[in-house]
Amino acid sequence: MFKSGFTFDNSYARDLPGFYVPWQPQPAPAPRLLFLNAALAEELGLDLASLDAGQLADLFAGNALPDGAEPIAQAYAGHQFGGFSPQLGDGRALLIGEVLDRHGARRDIAFKGSGPTPFARRGDGKAALGPMLREVLIGEAMHALGIPTTRALAVAGTGEAVARGAPLPGAVLTRVAASHLRVGTFQFFAARGDHDRVRQLADYAIARHYPDLASGTALYLDFLRAVVRRQAELVACWMGVGFIHGVMNTDNMSIPGETIDYGPCAFMEAYDPGTVFSSIDEYGRYAYANQPAIAQWNLARLAETLVPLLAEDGGEAVALATGAVDGFVADYQACWLATMRAKLGLAAVGNSTEDEAAADVALAADWLALLQAARADFTLAWRHLADAAGAGGVAAGGTALAALLPDQSALAAWLARWRARCAAEEGGDAPAAAWAARAARMRRANPRIIPRNHRVEEALAAASDRGDLAPFEALLAALRRPYDERPEDARYAEPAAAGFTASYQTFCGT
Ligand code: AMP
Ligand code: MG
Repeated sequence: MFKSGFTFDNSYARDLPGFYVPWQPQPAPAPRLLFLNAALAEELGLDLASLDAGQLADLFAGNALPDGAEPIAQAYAGHQFGGFSPQLGDGRALLIGEVLDRHGARRDIAFKGSGPTPFARRGDGKAALGPMLREVLIGEAMHALGIPTTRALAVAGTGEAVARGAPLPGAVLTRVAASHLRVGTFQFFAARGDHDRVRQLADYAIARHYPDLASGTALYLDFLRAVVRRQAELVACWMGVGFIHGVMNTDNMSIPGETIDYGPCAFMEAYDPGTVFSSIDEYGRYAYANQPAIAQWNLARLAETLVPLLAEDGGEAVALATGAVDGFVADYQACWLATMRAKLGLAAVGNSTEDEAAADVALAADWLALLQAARADFTLAWRHLADAAGAGGVAAGGTALAALLPDQSALAAWLARWRARCAAEEGGDAPAAAWAARAARMRRANPRIIPRNHRVEEALAAASDRGDLAPFEALLAALRRPYDERPEDARYAEPAAAGFTASYQTFCGT
C-alpha cells in the first residue's frame, strides 16, 4: 500500500457483503506503464504527479495497491449466447475501489488481467497486451463519439508472457465504470432463489444509478423501466455509428447503461445489417441488426429476476414485468429516430406528429436501403451526405457521394425527398447559410474517424509484436477528434480493402 492520489470510498465492498470475494492481484514480474489516460485521471481527481514511472507501473500492474483499495472479485451469472451459466464472476478482474469524480459521480476502478480469482474456472486470469490496447482504442473512440462507455485509465505491461496459442505479452488494464453491475449480477442471486439479495442489489443500483426514482410501491418497476430506457438509448447510439458489440451476453450488459466489455466488438464498414465479426458468433445472434432485439431479450432476463419484487400477486407481477420490457420497442424507436434525424441534419422535432415521424423513419430507412444496395461504407456515406448539405443539398454527378452510391437515379430521387424535407424547416427554399449550418450540424453528428478494423489491427500488431506504441498513439489521437476534418487524419478515414473486411474476425476472452 502507498499514497497514490486515489481517495477511495468503497460502497460495494461496504454495503454488499456476500456479493463478492475479497482477492488480491497477482504481482507482475516486470511492470511497465504503457498507457495512461491523463484526461480521465484529471476527471477522476487523481493526483498522480508525485509518482515516478516505476511507481506508476507498480500501481497499474497491481504490484502496489493504492491506499484505501479493497480489491474484490464480484459474483455474477449470465446468459451466454442464450445458454445460462449460473456462475461466471470476475475470473480475471478485480474491483479495487470506487472514487467520486470531479462531478461527484461515483466511479469504479477495476483491474482486468490481474490474475486468476476463485471465479476463474479454467482461465489463467490474464490478459494479452493487444486486446487491452484494443479496449483503450474502442472505448476512447466511443467516449469521443458521446456514447456512454466504460473507459481505460491505464495499461501496464506485466513483463510476463501469456499463452494464447503462441506466447503473447501480458498486460493489466485499469477500467473505469459507472459501476460493474450487470444484468448477470441480478441473475446470480435470482438463480439461487435469494430474493432478499436481489432486492438489496436493486436498492443499491437505484441509489447509485437511478436516485431520482421516487420510492413507493412502484419503485422496482420504475427501476426496470429506467434500465430499459437507458439500454434503448445506448443501443440506438451503437446503431448510429455502426458499432457491433459482438458478445451481448447478459453478463456484458451494464445496469447504468454503459457500453462494457470490449472483446470481439468492431465497427461496420460496408453497410450490411447482417454484419458479424466475432469468430464464435456462428449463427449471427449478435449481428448488427439484431442488437436491439437482443438488448430487449437481455432486459427480459433482468425483468425475470425482479418479478418477486413487483407485486404480491404472481400473475400481476409477471404482467408488470412484461409491460416494462415491451416498452423497449417504443423507447428504442424514439431513440433511433432521434439519432437518424440528427444524422440526416433534421432539426430535433420534439412533438412531431405520428405522420411526420413515419415520414422521417421512411426517409432514414430508404437512405439505409441505398447504402445496403451499394454496400457503401457506412461512415463515409453519412459524412458525404453532410458534404452534400454543404453544397445546398445537391450531390452532382462525380461527387464523393455519387461515387459511393452508384445507382444515380435512386440517389437523385432520395436526395430530392431529403432536400425538400430539409427546406421545409426553413419554410420553403433554404438559403445557402441554412445549408451551411445544417452541414456543420451534420458533421457533428456523423464522425469522420472511427476505429477502422485495419487501423486497429495495424496499431495492435506494432505494439504486441514489436513493442512499438507509436501507431497506437497516433490512432488514439485521431479517434479523440472524430468529427474534425484534419488532413493528417486522412489515413484513418479510409475504409479497409474489401478483402480485409470480408475475412476480418474478432475474438473473445483474450
Ligand atoms: P467475457 O466473455 O470476457 O465477458 O468473460 C466471460 C467470463 O469468462 C467472465 O466470468 C470472465 O471473468 C471469464 N474469463 C474470460 N477470460 C478469462 C481468463 N483469461 N481467465 C479467467 N477468467 C476469464
Ligand atoms: Mg464479460
